[in-house]
Amino acid sequence: MAVSKTRTPAAIQAAYACGLRHFGENRVQEAQSKIPEVESRLGGRITWHMIGHIQSRKARDAAQFAHFVHSVDSVKLARRLDRAARGGERILPILVECNVSGEESKYGFDASDEDRWDELHEPLLEIARCANLELRGLMTMAPIVEDPELARPVFSKLRHLRDALEDSLPGLALPDLSMGMTDDFEVAVEEGATMLRIGRAIFGPATY
Ligand SMILES: *Cc1c(COP(=O)(O)O)cnc(C)c1O
Repeated sequence: MAVSKTRTPAAIQAAYACGLRHFGENRVQEAQSKIPEVESRLGGRITWHMIGHIQSRKARDAAQFAHFVHSVDSVKLARRLDRAARGGERILPILVECNVSGEESKYGFDASDEDRWDELHEPLLEIARCANLELRGLMTMAPIVEDPELARPVFSKLRHLRDALEDSLPGLALPDLSMGMTDDFEVAVEEGATMLRIGRAIFGPATY
């Protein structure tokens, strides 16, 4: 997916012309103001992914533009997205964001301590029971590091977490792993990523 946060509709259109069809936004407000213009240029042919933290009170807005939400970091948010999807009579695919690195600055369910992965069972099952959400897997953000090899343990830990959850919760399938950005995506692929979130490698240096 091309991460189009901070990018103009014209830049998104140029990426679309190169064949990209999946775009990721990290702020509800920015997406809401930008997407109508992009859609008026291109029609509804883009799949929009929400990849940033969503405040619960913005859940309805996020559910309105997003076709896929990667950043479900609480049961409360999941319930609100579920309700919004039900209102729109649709099924919203989602990922559960997990903080496997333990960095304080990161959102997501705390999954840093392997000995406490069991504590994720209950929230995960609650999210899986939301009838209008389709739980597809897990997402994580690796620490920003110079050497992508330093991100590898974080990616492999997310894969192990997924395997452990699937083993302990029969019937729960978590096929998707959203991990890997511009500086570390090759390593993420080697560790099992099924979805990459690439910004700068596609659009150039970040612009704010
Ligand atoms: C900005 C962002 C990315 C993309 O980062 P790049 O380093 O520009 O590829 C990926 N995921 C999330 C959640 C982001 O906010």
